[in-house]
Amino acid sequence: MTSSAAGRAAATSAPSGAAALADLLAASERAVVLTGAGISVPSGIPDFRSPGTGVWEGVDPMEVAHVDAWRHDPETFWRFYGERFAMLVDKRPNPAHEAIAALERDGRIRAVITQNVDRLHRAAGTERLLEIHGSIQWSICPRCGGRTGIERVVELLEAGDGPPLCGDCAVALKPDVVLFGEMLALDTMAEAERLARQADLMVCVGSSLVVHPAAGLPALTLDGGGTLALVTQGETPYDGEAAVKLDGDVVTELTAVVRALGH
Ligand code: ZN
Repeated sequence: MTSSAAGRAAATSAPSGAAALADLLAASERAVVLTGAGISVPSGIPDFRSPGTGVWEGVDPMEVAHVDAWRHDPETFWRFYGERFAMLVDKRPNPAHEAIAALERDGRIRAVITQNVDRLHRAAGTERLLEIHGSIQWSICPRCGGRTGIERVVELLEAGDGPPLCGDCAVALKPDVVLFGEMLALDTMAEAERLARQADLMVCVGSSLVVHPAAGLPALTLDGGGTLALVTQGETPYDGEAAVKLDGDVVTELTAVVRALGH
């Protein structure tokens, strides 16, 4: 730790751990970042798996966001999913997303793997991004494969005339996200696994690491001899195996890490 980093550690609550993570990033050559819902909470996006939050209050997301719901009753599906789109469409990246984009620009990390569908890493400037649960950016026509952007989908939803339809086929669109009951995109997942296996450092941010298959990625890094760092509040199954665990606010922690690296 440099003397200036030590000074910051004394001055604020978290940074001794942040400096340790900065050291790991400085020493790594094939680091990857894995993010979950916790990184987007400071952007005003509640973790929809948490009970009693937002539009999912009183409904079971496993039921209304299930691929069978979209197939059999697209109108009801879109009544719920449309509220999620409307809530997400104007959200902006926060300094934690920006810190991770800065790490990539500076060559500190190779890629970002995210469980989030909210587009915020892309908006912050991350380039090599693996969205293993898909993205709300597009909705897909199951008949012709045509893609409709979220802004247009929100317009169609606001017109309030049933589910958004493909302009050509008049078939209900499906958001390009992995719904409950659906397979993940195999090629995206295969690349995420390859990056995790090759990584000499995996930094997991804002994920409780319990939702598979993302929850299995840190094990691939550990099995390959890599190091694990956690930036997340609350327990994870990997707490005992992590070289560093930062459990403060995700913005405070990641901002301190980037600053400790000299930015
Ligand atoms: Zn179509």
